[in-house]
Amino acid sequence: MAVRFGKPAGNRATSKAVVADLGLGEHVAFEELLAAVTQKHGKPIELRDIDSAVIPSVTGLWIEKENKSIILLPSGDNRLHRTHAACHEFGHILLRHQGCGGVETTMPSVFQHIGSRRGIRRMLARSLDWNDTERAAEQVAYLLSLTLLPKDPESTNPFERTFL
Ligand SMILES: [Zn+2]
Repeated sequence: MAVRFGKPAGNRATSKAVVADLGLGEHVAFEELLAAVTQKHGKPIELRDIDSAVIPSVTGLWIEKENKSIILLPSGDNRLHRTHAACHEFGHILLRHQGCGGVETTMPSVFQHIGSRRGIRRMLARSLDWNDTERAAEQVAYLLSLTLLPKDPESTNPFERTFL
């Protein structure tokens, strides 16, 4: 997707602050990042694979329920895109963004996939709607990506195992 930064974002300090608040080391594995975000969030975060045909215009989706959050990531995207999409949704979680109401009506099939819409408190999609909220989450995603360890090609990638 084309990303345009029209003006300096006003909430860069906030994005930096929430990432700094995670207390990550200089380099972390994805699992450590997930654990740190989970702790801040205060409930489990489940990463789930979803058929990209179900959410064709969206690269990631955060659904917050009462007792856990679910991040849906399209199965077709490559690992780098999925990692970035996950970090983007972490950004929304860490910045405590409110969900956008349009998703529910435009993507009823998502609820079919999850099984139920009961107990869903909020949902945020990574979409082409590039507003200030998205820009702030993207800043967090960028900062988080800087701390992630480069992948060792020899080892089985634990992040990919998340999706089995
Ligand atoms: Zn977003």
